[in-house]
Amino acid sequence: MTTITLVQGDITQETVDAIVNAANSSLLGGGGVDGAIHRRGGPEILEECRRLRASHYGKGLPTGQAVATTAGKLHAQWVIHTVGPVWSASEDRSDLLASCYAQSLKVADDLGAQTVAFPAVSIGVYGWPIEDGARIAIRTVRDADVPAVEEVRFVLFDTRAYNAFVDQLG
Ligand code: ADP
Repeated sequence: MTTITLVQGDITQETVDAIVNAANSSLLGGGGVDGAIHRRGGPEILEECRRLRASHYGKGLPTGQAVATTAGKLHAQWVIHTVGPVWSASEDRSDLLASCYAQSLKVADDLGAQTVAFPAVSIGVYGWPIEDGARIAIRTVRDADVPAVEEVRFVLFDTRAYNAFVDQLG
């Protein structure tokens, strides 16, 4: 059974086995939580991302997929990078957002990570409506079969996102 916990704060301050990054497909850094993770984690993470781009992910990491690197100076063993979909009013991309959580958890489970911290993927610059993003996040984690993962901790940066996750957790 995976326990879901919610905290409001900065994910780069968490001590867990794996920290999930809402990356972009270039894997080469960006704004928001991605920028914060690279800033605090130091250059080792970017170096490993560059190596991934030079090997398995020449065209970048596809939306909905996940890949692990070192966590550098963060208080974690791994950063799991996942690429959320950009919100679209005309196309339902919910499956891709669910896939970010499911694939990140699969990577975590394969690594043997017992504690995993997630940000609210796609809810920032990518424009996903907060309530719906929270619903998909909680539902997908509840449905996941990941025996190694004992705790999934959602780390929400602001009060609005935190409250949306509290409402969905019920
Ligand atoms: P995306 O491009 O997937 O939307 P963003 O990084 O823009 O990713 O935003 C995703 C969520 O992460 C937003 O709710 C944003 O407020 C939040 N966020 C930004 N910085 C941090 C941080 N240091 N820790 C946790 N969450 C963060």
